[in-house]
Amino acid sequence: MGGTAVVLGGGIGGLAAALGLRRIGWDVTVVERAPLLEDAGAGISLAANGLRALDELGIGEPVRDASKGQYTGGTRTPRGGWLARMDGSALEKAVGTPIMGIPRATLHRLLRASLPADSLLIGAEAARVEQTGPGTVQVDCGESVLSADLVVAADGIGSKVRGRLFPEHPGPVYSGSTVLRAITEPAVDLRADFELTWGRGAEFGHIALQDGRAEWHAVLTLPAGSRFADPPAELRRRFQAWHDPIPALLEATLPAAVLHHDVNELRTPLPSYVVGRIALLGDAAHAMTPNLGQGACQALEDAVTLAAALRAESTVESALARYDAERRPRSQAVAQAARQAGRTGQQLAHPLAVALRNTAMRLTPSRAAMRMILRHHAWVAPQLG
Ligand SMILES: Cc1cc2nc3c(=O)[nH]c(=O)nc-3n(C[C@H](O)[C@H](O)[C@H](O)COP(=O)(O)OP(=O)(O)OC[C@H]3O[C@@H](n4cnc5c(N)ncnc54)[C@H](O)[C@@H]3O)c2cc1C
Repeated sequence: MGGTAVVLGGGIGGLAAALGLRRIGWDVTVVERAPLLEDAGAGISLAANGLRALDELGIGEPVRDASKGQYTGGTRTPRGGWLARMDGSALEKAVGTPIMGIPRATLHRLLRASLPADSLLIGAEAARVEQTGPGTVQVDCGESVLSADLVVAADGIGSKVRGRLFPEHPGPVYSGSTVLRAITEPAVDLRADFELTWGRGAEFGHIALQDGRAEWHAVLTLPAGSRFADPPAELRRRFQAWHDPIPALLEATLPAAVLHHDVNELRTPLPSYVVGRIALLGDAAHAMTPNLGQGACQALEDAVTLAAALRAESTVESALARYDAERRPRSQAVAQAARQAGRTGQQLAHPLAVALRNTAMRLTPSRAAMRMILRHHAWVAPQLG
C-alpha cells in the first residue's frame, strides 16, 4: 500500500517517521515551524532498541560511526562510592551493542541527510489539521494547505494536535525536576564512559562522546520555573564537593553552552495514539522523563512500527489500529518505568530512604540489574526491507 503523508514536526521522531514512510514507498512532506532545521541540545544516549530502529531506517551504521560506546561506568554516591557498575560488554553480548552516546545535533543531521531536501517544509507552522473526507486529511500551514492520506503528529510534548484531538486530556505536567546540561568544550580526561551520581534530590551524570568531549547533566528537585542568575556558579556551588570528574566537567564548560529546562511529562496516558487518519508519535504521544534515556528511542520505535504496519496492512485504518495496539502499551510502560526511576533515583531526598535505596542497589546482583535494563533495550524491530 503506497500513499501520501504529512509529518508535523522535524525533531528526531518526525524525521524518523518520514524516513520510515519513505522506505516503504510513501510520498512524505515534513512540516517544521522552526526556521532552521537543527536539533539543539546536548548529547543523547541510544540504547539497543533505538539503534535497531535506526538500522531499519537505514542509518544505523553512520549513527554508530559517530557515536561512542559506553562500556565502563555506573551509578555512584557524591563521595564516589559505587552503587552499581555498568558493564557495556555484557550488554553488548546480550543485545548486540552497549549504549551509544552521540551529540543530538549529529543524530539530527544524520536523519536529515537521509531525506531529500524538497521533502522538508521549513519555517512552516501547521495551524490546523482536519479530516476533510473519509480518506483525506488536510494540514493548513498558512501559506499552503497540504492534503494527504495520513498525518503523523510528531509535534513534541506541547503538541497542539494532541490538545485538539483529546481536549479532555490534562496535557503535560511538571515532573518536579529541572535539568541543566551541556557538552564540554575541550576534551575531558574521563576514567569512565558513563556515570550517574545520586545525592539527596540531586543527580549529576555524564556520557563520553567520540571526540573526547563529554555531555553532562545536572538534575535538581526544585519548583517549576526556577532559574539561576549565574547557572555555572550555582552548579559549582552545588557540585564542587562531589567526586571527580564532576568539578572538572563543570570547569570545562562554556557558560553559554549550559541549557536549562524543566522536565515535563505526559503523566496521564493517552487513550489512543490514533484518531481517524492522524497518528501521534514521539513526545506528542508519550513524553516521558529522561531517567531511562528512552524518550527518543521510543520515538524511533514508533517510526519503524508505523511504517511496518502500513507496509503489512491493506488499509490505512487497519495499519493505524495495529500501530496503536503495538505502541501504546510498550511506550506507556517505559514512561511509567522512567517516572519510577526518577522517584527512586534523583528525586529521593529523605536520608533514610536514600540509605535504604543505596543498600538495596549495592546488594542487587548484576544479573538482576541487567534483566531490568533488557526489559527496555531488548526490542525486536519489525522489518521494513
Ligand atoms: C534532558 C533530557 C535528556 C534526554 N535524554 C535522552 C536520551 O539520552 N535518550 C533518549 O532516547 N531520549 C532522551 N530524551 C528524550 C528525547 O529528547 C525526546 O523524547 C525526543 O527528542 C522527542 O522527539 P520528538 O521528535 O517527538 O519531539 P521534539 O524533539 O520536541 O520535536 C517536535 C518538533 O515539532 C515542531 N513543531 C511543534 N509544533 C509544530 C507545528 N504546529 N508545526 C510545525 N512544527 C511544529 C517543533 O518545532 C519541533 O522541532 C531526553 C529528554 C530530555 C528533556
